[in-house]
Amino acid sequence: MKMNNSNSSKRWTKYREEMCSAFPSAFSDDRDSLSKSIAKAIEHLNKLRPCDGGPAYLGQNPALTIDFDKVKEIEMADTMSSSEQVIAQTSELFEGLPNWGHPLTMCNVIPQANTASIIAAIMSEIFSPNILEGEYAWNVHRAELESGGMLANLVGWEAKHAGCIYTYGGSGCWTYHVKYALTRVLPDSRYSGVRTDAKVLCSQQAHYTMLNSTDWMGLGMNNIIRIKTDPDTNVMDLQDLEAVLTSLQASNIPVASVVCTMGTTDANAVDPVAGVRKLLDRYPNASPYGKALLYCDAVTSWSWLAFRKYDFAKNPLQFSEALLPFIEANYRALEAMKYADAIGFDFHKAGFTPYASSCFLYRNADEFENLLKRPGSAYLQPRSPYNPLDYTLEVSRAATGALAGWATLKYFGYEGFQAIMGGILENQYYLRNLLHENASTVCVNPDDYSLVTLFRVYPEGVMAHQQYQRELSDPACKDQLLANNKLTMDVGNKLYEWYRGGNKVNGKYTPYMSFSTGFRVTEYNRDASDPEAMVFALKIYPMNVHLTHEIMQHAVDCVIAARNEVLGVK
Ligand SMILES: *Cc1c(COP(=O)(O)O)cnc(C)c1O
Repeated sequence: MKMNNSNSSKRWTKYREEMCSAFPSAFSDDRDSLSKSIAKAIEHLNKLRPCDGGPAYLGQNPALTIDFDKVKEIEMADTMSSSEQVIAQTSELFEGLPNWGHPLTMCNVIPQANTASIIAAIMSEIFSPNILEGEYAWNVHRAELESGGMLANLVGWEAKHAGCIYTYGGSGCWTYHVKYALTRVLPDSRYSGVRTDAKVLCSQQAHYTMLNSTDWMGLGMNNIIRIKTDPDTNVMDLQDLEAVLTSLQASNIPVASVVCTMGTTDANAVDPVAGVRKLLDRYPNASPYGKALLYCDAVTSWSWLAFRKYDFAKNPLQFSEALLPFIEANYRALEAMKYADAIGFDFHKAGFTPYASSCFLYRNADEFENLLKRPGSAYLQPRSPYNPLDYTLEVSRAATGALAGWATLKYFGYEGFQAIMGGILENQYYLRNLLHENASTVCVNPDDYSLVTLFRVYPEGVMAHQQYQRELSDPACKDQLLANNKLTMDVGNKLYEWYRGGNKVNGKYTPYMSFSTGFRVTEYNRDASDPEAMVFALKIYPMNVHLTHEIMQHAVDCVIAARNEVLGVK
């Protein structure tokens, strides 16, 4: 259609003309501005990357520059801006952000995303498939359907009967599980609301997102029952679970679900799924209540499952012999997830994928999808057999997470996951040897080889190992425990201050680490009745593929330097 000539000089048409170059072209022609704009954006972002050996944040200014009192006193401009300007302004927002790809970044289970997954996510933003239903997703739906298949096979479920939904986080997965459980156990709840205090059982170590999920699903946070954990291993105590199930059954209170946490962020506690399954079968809900759900919160740890195909005797990827039992143990701990009804996976944790790419996987797609089915919409017609909008929490769903997760599975394959996860342990092995050789440091999670090394640093001359044993077991040493907890926290804060301040130790920038103010209780405080008798620890997560042994050594040197500064020792 030709534009009306009488319009062409009007102001609004000028804006429209400008917009034509600020929207991607529909056609493959050289009028397209998108690839140039992307190149420009990457150029801006690249300027934020430090040069080799630079600090672990982006840009030049590590300070937080938001004026929180005034930040909201802003209005849209009266006139139009340009894409170039907005792209430049957007890149400015990244100034000072932690650089997750930096080898000195080791603060949490926050990995740098792999390139294939970043590009897959960007592609999703360019053509906006909407994975709510077939018509708007078309073949992009393969990303979600094939992720479900690949993950089900990874768990050991029959892939063709399983299904998955990409959603907004590990907390989204938790929330999906609560909904699934309530719908199964309280069949009227979808229409009449949740009118029965069904219980969600999870361990004392379960993630705090249990509060979000039970609150937002209308069950109520008071309907969570915390099952005791073993003070040494942090694992759910099956005896306590049985006692709780017995008493609930005696009072005819239904269990909505039992949640097994498969790897907590700090302690890597993995709950005994097979034992939980047995107990759930032994203590079923009485009629009219449905069968309780067994959910595994595996969001941090799931990638160890890739070792299901590893030949530990032949060790084809040639991991250090000393690490093989730990790798195998990490995998074996997850193997029993095959007994679960549903599992949560975060690709943005040990999946090396951008946010938000969490995947809620269920074993029985027929059951889940029919239980939660709603009548379709008048304005959407089913154009494909796959229309998740009929049962998802969300309506429109970006394909970003599904494409990013799928791309990651396609990129790594079994061996890629084995190499990246095993490599984390190789760096940790080196780090732990350094901590062992240094008399004033002690690793406090030596039996646990997952993604984190927790350790304490003591004043020069203190034999850290012995001192820690005393603090852990002897109530008479509580003063020393508290003093050294404080030292741990001060060193952790000093290291954060150095990282943010762009300080250097031995001529090099310092690591971005973190610390825990209570990763476990002391042995004489097993019931956690004393809130003070907790063990603080410094934390290192060597997630980064760019990490080297030299950087592990530097991290330990920086911890010692920070301790000396805190204690005023030269
Ligand atoms: C991180 C985490 C969550 C929450 O996941 P988000 O992706 O941050 O929403 C839940 N459970 C466990 C065990 C976690 O580590």
